[in-house]
Amino acid sequence: EQLETYLTQAARPHPSRSKPRMDNNNAPVTVVAGGAGFIGSHLCQALLDRGETVLCLDNLQTSRASNLDDLMDHPRFSFVKADVIDKLPPEVTHLTSRITRVYNLACAASPPHYQADPEHTMLTCVLGTDHLLRLAEQSGARFLLTSTSEVYGDPEVHPQREDYRGAVSCTGPRACYDEGKRAAEAMALDFARLDRADVRIARIFNTYGPRMHPDDGRVVSNFICQALSADMMTVYGDGSQTRSFCYVSDMVAGLISLMDSDTVGAEPVNLGNPNELTVGDLVTRIVAMTGTKARVHYQPLPVDDPRRRKPDITRAKDLLGWTPMVALEDGLSRTCAWFAEELRQTDRMPLL
Ligand code: UDP
Repeated sequence: EQLETYLTQAARPHPSRSKPRMDNNNAPVTVVAGGAGFIGSHLCQALLDRGETVLCLDNLQTSRASNLDDLMDHPRFSFVKADVIDKLPPEVTHLTSRITRVYNLACAASPPHYQADPEHTMLTCVLGTDHLLRLAEQSGARFLLTSTSEVYGDPEVHPQREDYRGAVSCTGPRACYDEGKRAAEAMALDFARLDRADVRIARIFNTYGPRMHPDDGRVVSNFICQALSADMMTVYGDGSQTRSFCYVSDMVAGLISLMDSDTVGAEPVNLGNPNELTVGDLVTRIVAMTGTKARVHYQPLPVDDPRRRKPDITRAKDLLGWTPMVALEDGLSRTCAWFAEELRQTDRMPLL
């Protein structure tokens, strides 16, 4: 029920959107599909800050137009509400001759959200990527696919290097996303091999920070919101499963340097923070940081929940000179501060 409310709210049209303002000059255009989402909106901001002209495309399914509030009046920014599984709208195609870069971040990424409409998730990965690759082909733009650590499934190899082929279930509830992203990678690499597009592939590991939706359903946003509202902290399983969390500004820097790189080629590159911890450890840190009175409540582990996850980022370090900079304590305290304000503004008054 909470998810439905959230999806309806997220999809509510925002006044005065959709006014491309890019007709008056010939500057190169960067397309960001999924640009109203958590990582996408930070990426759009960073691209504007470095002088790029940004056309953001989003269906607002799990993202929020309010993520773009600070950008909407920027003279080099435009937003088009569109779903990448459909034919790309004229606001995009009429700029084909000016498009030099295409970032594809379009897809629900939190397990409860991508499982809510699995057919749409699969089509977003496959059809959406095809539409954007064809756009890159026609415009001669460089294309960056955001893939995922989920391509490694529940990994038998630890930490995960890019040449590990993964242990993914093609029949489980995560398959719509995992297999969708694997198919998207296959398609992007075929475009590269056939010289149809200049391709970059990022495999994004768990990322957190301001602008995650309070009802996103992922562990960092859940724990922080639960702590701030003195709600039950929901640990799935016994909390011994591990993840490695990357702060959003580090992720955005990685994506931009991957797109910028003239040498890295189309082979996938892991982007994430190798600082691995258990979910139990994460809950303890958030309890300590917020001083919450919320109690930990153990719930069943979801089906196919990976036991361990940690990126090997040697390739990103060697080829891009990229490494995450923000320590978990700093990132978590910035994220807690942002959520406290967010909950206050949306009348979900934090009790702390
Ligand atoms: N998790 C949890 N409590 C929550 C949400 C998630 O214990 O309220 C666990 C989940 O089972 C998984 C880990 O935290 O083991 C990370 O989950 P998330 O959904 O954030 O991302 P995933 O890496 O599974 O895609």
